Amino acid sequence: MEHTLNVYNSLKRQKEVFNPINEGHIGMYVCGPTVYSDVHLGNCRTFVSFDIIYRYLMYLGYRVRYVRNITDVGHLVGDVDTGGEDKIAEKARLEQLEPMEVVQKYMNGFHDMMKVFNTLPPSIEPRATGHIIEQIEMVQSIIDNGYAYVKNGSVYFDTIKFAKENDVYGKLSGRIIEDLISESRDDLKNQDEKNHPADFAIWIKASPTHLMRWNSPWSVGFPGWHLECSAMSTKYLGKTFDIHGGGNDLKFPHHENEVAQNHGACGCAPANYWLHTNMLLMNGRKMSKSEDNSITPQELFTGESSHISKGYSPMMIRFFMLQSHYRSTLDLTDEALQAAEKGYKRLMEANKSLQALAYNGKDTEGALDKEINQLIDLVYTEMNDDFNTPKALARLFELVPKANGLKDGHLSFDEITSYTLDRLKSTFQVFIYDIFGLQDEDFGGEEGNEAVDGLMKLIIDIRQSARANKDWGTSDKIRDTLNALEIKLKDGKDGTSWSKN
Ligand code: AMP
Ligand code: ZN
Repeated sequence: MEHTLNVYNSLKRQKEVFNPINEGHIGMYVCGPTVYSDVHLGNCRTFVSFDIIYRYLMYLGYRVRYVRNITDVGHLVGDVDTGGEDKIAEKARLEQLEPMEVVQKYMNGFHDMMKVFNTLPPSIEPRATGHIIEQIEMVQSIIDNGYAYVKNGSVYFDTIKFAKENDVYGKLSGRIIEDLISESRDDLKNQDEKNHPADFAIWIKASPTHLMRWNSPWSVGFPGWHLECSAMSTKYLGKTFDIHGGGNDLKFPHHENEVAQNHGACGCAPANYWLHTNMLLMNGRKMSKSEDNSITPQELFTGESSHISKGYSPMMIRFFMLQSHYRSTLDLTDEALQAAEKGYKRLMEANKSLQALAYNGKDTEGALDKEINQLIDLVYTEMNDDFNTPKALARLFELVPKANGLKDGHLSFDEITSYTLDRLKSTFQVFIYDIFGLQDEDFGGEEGNEAVDGLMKLIIDIRQSARANKDWGTSDKIRDTLNALEIKLKDGKDGTSWSKN
């Protein structure tokens, strides 16, 4: 089958046919996490989205070099080190750890979470602290090309000069440089070291108390936040590579400044295609810790959160993420998770019965062949349309009644060739496991689930009557035994639900 892949390029604000620089090969860079706290579910959504993109590109036959960095140099809110702490240093003080212990702890946690969600590891995972030399070299190139200046040991990117000489700045984020220049003119007198507020630090002189610091030609200091991605993507993927990704909250200033740095140092654009994922919301609002509108992956698995009625397994959450397109916001609600749980089970069970069909099909074409093959083609068409997982999933669900019909005899095997039946089976296998990256969950088949659900309902009922009769011995025994089996009960307003860790 012909595969023409179309991707939405944020840089051009339109869908384009994807053509890699080197035939058969793809270089893809995605901004990774800053490792100073537990990874949150929003981060997970972005990395699961790129995992599916990575998997699909490999499925199409490309050799993909996927680079995803670890930001382990702590970054300041402003551009000048006035002695305040960066996020990693602050955590180090609070937890009484070395900054590198903080980094290791949260990087390990991030990797564990990526495994739980069954995301594939990137081909290279470079760390900012391991690439200080490359970053210093890049700063030097930018200075040599006249796009950066040194002030009191710090180095600033000369955004205004760059913007005037290159028709590039603002293109990715949609900012108009003339506005930027006039808007900020009034602030000029408030700027300490920078020539202009739109300039940004690429090397920062460390204050005496700053913990993470390195020697450089300009001062003992540390690199600016945007620099690491420019330096590491160039090192591992070349000056211009195929895909650069990240959450859309990074478009400005991070990605805009990355583009400027690459042009400033190398005279060319870093990436041909920019892919941006959209944000995860909860109950319609941006997930945010400060507004008590957030949930950790752990809380989501165990159900220990006032926002949900029960726990949801990692694969159900992955399925839930698949049900929205990566460029749309995704709203996490209890109802949506429950619907995803049902959908996930339905898909996995349909696949199980499909794979178990012993019949081989006919040699001559029957009434079902055309319809099934068209639907299968559409699954691929949807994925080729900017990795549209919700639509591809919807096409698979249109095929579920066919699979179920063949199983229960509503549809006749006389209507289908062995070729179509094999293609149907392999499409389900490939999409579910290889491309969508779903895994089978613990509980066996349909019958197993029903039996376990029935038994659990019985146990919950017995516990309820024991509690009503103040028979604490029995109710405690039930709770302790279930705990030992890692089964958790959760009492909610609609009754008691259960989940397995
Ligand atoms: P950070 O550690 O904050 O730099 O974020 C790591 C990645 O997660 C970046 O690509 C962010 O754009 C992305 N990200 C952060 N918050 C969210 C969110 N609420 N929803 C989706 N992606 C997010
Ligand atoms: Zn980055």
